[in-house]
Amino acid sequence: MKVCYETESIDRKGEIQLIHHFIADEYVKDVFQINLMALKNNGKRVILTDLDNTLVGASVKKPTQEIIDFLTNAQSLGFEVIIVSNNKKERVLHFAEDLTIKAAHHKSLKPLKLKLRRILKQYDRNQVVMIGDQLMTDVLVAKRLGLYTILVEPIHLDSDENSTKFNRRLERFVVKQLKKRQLPTPPYLD
Ligand SMILES: [Mg+2]
Repeated sequence: MKVCYETESIDRKGEIQLIHHFIADEYVKDVFQINLMALKNNGKRVILTDLDNTLVGASVKKPTQEIIDFLTNAQSLGFEVIIVSNNKKERVLHFAEDLTIKAAHHKSLKPLKLKLRRILKQYDRNQVVMIGDQLMTDVLVAKRLGLYTILVEPIHLDSDENSTKFNRRLERFVVKQLKKRQLPTPPYLD
């Protein structure tokens, strides 16, 4: 009986830890609602951001003027900005070629930690913010790496890639589990 009890408690603990990896620190409508000044005052210095449906819709090839202004403002406040996209090299490089950001990574393999961990080697993780639109990739990898995480509402759901559509289904399942436990969920999925 004792063994059984211990196994249960370990499972329960594991489950609790896992489910907390799907809870962002902030939920906002879009990146323009992010309070960069507050982040700076809280010691954040580095922004890792997803691209598709976070900065622009997945079918938008180039940054909009609003996004250029947002990124420029972030940099003028002292943030280093790094794009970490799961999308292909051509997409990411074409999007980022006119931006003056620190780096733009393609095929970042989120939610795997491998590539982001490499990027994070040169930073203090307490100073890093992750911005993204997906629980299953952006939030999950960021929380697993111990980063402060901001979830934005996806810009255009209809332009999602097939892999993302699959993730969105998983996302709805996770949201159900979060709700069951009365944990915070993305407001747009309520
Ligand atoms: Mg995205």
